[in-house]
Amino acid sequence: AGWKPAAPKSTNNKLSKHTSFEQHPGYKQLQIIKNSAKTLGVPSPFFKVHQGTAGATTLIDDKSVINFASYNYLDLSGHPDVNQAAIDAITQYGTSVSASRIVSGERPIHQELEHAIASTYEVEDALVYVSGHATNVSTIGYLFGPKDLIIHDEYIHNSSVVGSQLSGAKRIPFTHNNLDALDKLLTEHRGQYEQVLIVVEGLYSMDGDHPDLARLVEIKRQHLAFLMVDEAHSFGVLGETGKGLREEAGIAGQDVDIWMGTLSKTLSGCGGYIAGSAALVENLRYLSPGFLYSVGLPAPTAAAALASLQLIHKEPQRIQKLRSISQSFIQQAKALGLNTGESVGIAIIPIILGSSVKAANASAAMLEKGINVQPILYPAVPERSARLRFFLSCEHSEEQIKYTLDTLKSLL
Ligand code: PMP
Repeated sequence: AGWKPAAPKSTNNKLSKHTSFEQHPGYKQLQIIKNSAKTLGVPSPFFKVHQGTAGATTLIDDKSVINFASYNYLDLSGHPDVNQAAIDAITQYGTSVSASRIVSGERPIHQELEHAIASTYEVEDALVYVSGHATNVSTIGYLFGPKDLIIHDEYIHNSSVVGSQLSGAKRIPFTHNNLDALDKLLTEHRGQYEQVLIVVEGLYSMDGDHPDLARLVEIKRQHLAFLMVDEAHSFGVLGETGKGLREEAGIAGQDVDIWMGTLSKTLSGCGGYIAGSAALVENLRYLSPGFLYSVGLPAPTAAAALASLQLIHKEPQRIQKLRSISQSFIQQAKALGLNTGESVGIAIIPIILGSSVKAANASAAMLEKGINVQPILYPAVPERSARLRFFLSCEHSEEQIKYTLDTLKSLL
């Protein structure tokens, strides 16, 4: 999966017994990367402190900068209605529900949020977890087992990979967005497994592209497989009114077996959700470990997510603004000869620069010029395609976009 460094190969077949975490393979690998960055004079782009709400602008080192590094696509994190909903929920329920919902953690706001999510997807039910990452780990890890096959896009998020590993199912990645390759793999392997799950994302966070959902629905039907779509980055972003990839693709909610999303991006809270059939959600509600054995979502977080969802429905112009500013960004970037990869030009636009050193240096130089953009470095992407990744917000202005792209061009 690439998230856990391999243990160093032993030359003499002896176990390297160690009792210090300085000997841990991950720590050792990290020190090598940090030391080589230091030697090359590349500043660390990680753990920058934002001193306020991060939207189209943010405060870093007491300086207001244009911000392209937050998933606040619709500028709802920090919105007064969202803040007020959270404050009211704290007043009514406090900051923690103090237990799993199955015992004493259930509050009315949980069900209100779940009904609102289910009705947005036009499916029977939904369930919210305290973390988006845990939602995938727990849902996939619980529903599938050693007699099953999980076949996923090679660029799927770590949480789905970890969930698949936990399940003990056979796991096969397919070439990014290549549905012919998926179809072929299913033809070859379907017969040997009980349940088969296909996992894709609604909008890929490294590249800003998405799969052909209508074709995926056909494929999953043909091969008797379940289809799961992780809408972490597509919910609130794709479709005329932000209802996600299903609205963009014009398919019904029930055509996908498992809708997953996070509360941490356009919904400006924290946590994850699953939406789908009553049987799926009831099963997870009573039996999936990340829900059952974990505390319920704090009421202010649930209230913030619900208020955000209501704003998405009430103010679809946010989505249109996001779409038009993103289109403007990608068109100008292309006109300047910058490489935007496969991005469809909504919300996530990478500019591929080549080496990790080049991307890290460009990010540092941009910050000097008042622009915060995160570099994506090897091993998150292959070394030759290290990039600056721009997350757009509906509040970015044409002036900010022009200044940003002109600045980047002048630095390259
Ligand atoms: N799925 C995808 C596609 C993601 O990008 C992320 C995190 N960025 C997650 C799941 C996990 O969500 P969270 O950060 O809300 O835990």
